[in-house]
Amino acid sequence: MNAEIASVIWCLSIVFWLVIRWPHRRRARKTKVVTDQRSRAEWIALTGCTVGLVVIPAFHLATGLLSFADYPFFMIQGILGSTAMIGFLVLFHLSHRDLARNWSVTLEIREDHKLVDHGVYARVRHPMYTSFWLWGLGQALLIPNWIAGLTGLAAVAWLYFSRVNKEEAMMQAQFGPEYDAYRKRTARLVPGFV
Ligand code: SAH
Repeated sequence: MNAEIASVIWCLSIVFWLVIRWPHRRRARKTKVVTDQRSRAEWIALTGCTVGLVVIPAFHLATGLLSFADYPFFMIQGILGSTAMIGFLVLFHLSHRDLARNWSVTLEIREDHKLVDHGVYARVRHPMYTSFWLWGLGQALLIPNWIAGLTGLAAVAWLYFSRVNKEEAMMQAQFGPEYDAYRKRTARLVPGFV
């Protein structure tokens, strides 16, 4: 595998990401929201994710204007990066499937919201965020550029650390002891680890 093929794999992953998310966005628009904790800081972090994970790498691949910051590409990066992207897409799909109508792009509680603790939510509380970390890692491996490769990981770190405590506090306020018990038996991102 060379850097060109790695770029194509990154582009295909972005297409699959859009295809997986599309039906969930449509359904979310029709599902009533009862608690809305959206804030300006959250929208800035979400916009940062779009810029870091999509706009900057796409700009780099389309124009080559950031090539001064390239680092060498080895085949092993391509293999590991492709594996990370496959992991991202599988986990992204499964977490959407399991959250179903309870999913929101921001911090929201929907009408008749259920605490999901089955499927990929049985052992971790934030599998979708695990998938985003894999996406950032895959980007860093597939796009060998200090700027376009690493802005994804920086954006995911920003979103994750600014959001995860707020999200857990919102879920605790909504589900009380049920969420406390769920939190005790699960990890945040990786089963049995973190
Ligand atoms: N943090 C989760 C979900 C991200 S989507 C993950 O990484 O997989 C964010 C929305 O999902 C939040 O607004 C919240 O309403 C909802 N949510 C998060 N965890 C949930 C759970 N276990 N059950 C039901 N809804 C959940």
